[in-house]
Amino acid sequence: MPKALITGISGQDGLYLAELLLEKGYDVTGLIRGQFNPKEPMVRATVPDVELLTGDLTDPLALARVLDRAEPTEVYNLGAISFVAYSWQNAALTSDVTGKGVLNMLEATRMYAGSDPSAVRFYQASSSEMFGRVQEVPQRESTLLWPRSPYGVAKVFGHYMTINYRESYGMHASSGILFNHESPRRGPEFVTRKVSIAVARIALGLQDTIVMGNLDAKRDWGFAGDYVEAMWRMLQQGEADDYVVATGETHSIRELLDVAFAAVGIDDWTPYVEQSPEFIRPAEVDLLIGDPAKARERLGWAPKVGFEELVRMMVEHDLREQSQHVG
Ligand code: GDP
Repeated sequence: MPKALITGISGQDGLYLAELLLEKGYDVTGLIRGQFNPKEPMVRATVPDVELLTGDLTDPLALARVLDRAEPTEVYNLGAISFVAYSWQNAALTSDVTGKGVLNMLEATRMYAGSDPSAVRFYQASSSEMFGRVQEVPQRESTLLWPRSPYGVAKVFGHYMTINYRESYGMHASSGILFNHESPRRGPEFVTRKVSIAVARIALGLQDTIVMGNLDAKRDWGFAGDYVEAMWRMLQQGEADDYVVATGETHSIRELLDVAFAAVGIDDWTPYVEQSPEFIRPAEVDLLIGDPAKARERLGWAPKVGFEELVRMMVEHDLREQSQHVG
């Protein structure tokens, strides 16, 4: 039976990936952080068949212990401090977890694999935030990286360290450059979920307005449930490599608002949307659009859920969830 270890099991990707791997007959272990992690009951309820072990990406001894216990054949490193806006206030912590944490995981995996480093396959969650001030449109695997936030810089470190471990030690270490991917499980601090929750609450009469930042930024948004399939496919290849995972379409925050409000029958959202400098970032990534040709050709991967369907799925989920608060 194949065995997988997933770091970042409590995030949306960790949960979708765990479900996918369990369906495929894997034995799945998840790394969960901290004493009394408030997300632990949710993880246990969502994926009860996953074994949870405690450890932190900043603690190499804990990682070594977890690898020995889990005995994985595949390691998926999804754990990170992942909210870009937060990374300016916590640049050192973001560098330790999102950047150096990758090195800790790679080295722990190499030591655990012993004499044959390629025997354990490794996936690194790289990010389109690495493209930052984009040097090419659309962005592909060879596009020069120009990160625009401490989060993006930390992801670049992890990305190149993964390539370096592949080249230095012959590890089967692949890196998925995933563009923004969303779902009803996305954290409420990210713009799609922030909007879907607010739109549901406005429709139900639970709140009057939503306060936003830059409405002109454009993102290539896909469905997280589709993207975890690409992660798994990368680790099934004979050779490890790097892949852009994206839809190849871009939409502005304004278009996100259009689709989300239209889902509850509101065509003109201007009375409901305010803007505040609080949500404007010190440096912005203005445009992301990925070219998923390599993933399509080599992995046979294509996204199934489009932008409008994704936004509607999130709003409908939040309408159901928020309707519990209607008094
Ligand atoms: P990111 O691409 O990883 O930073 O994902 P986010 O979902 O956090 O942000 C996507 C884009 O939405 C960025 O360009 C933000 O500047 C923009 N944005 C505009 N208003 C907001 C807001 O209120 N919250 C967040 N999170 N992003 C916003």
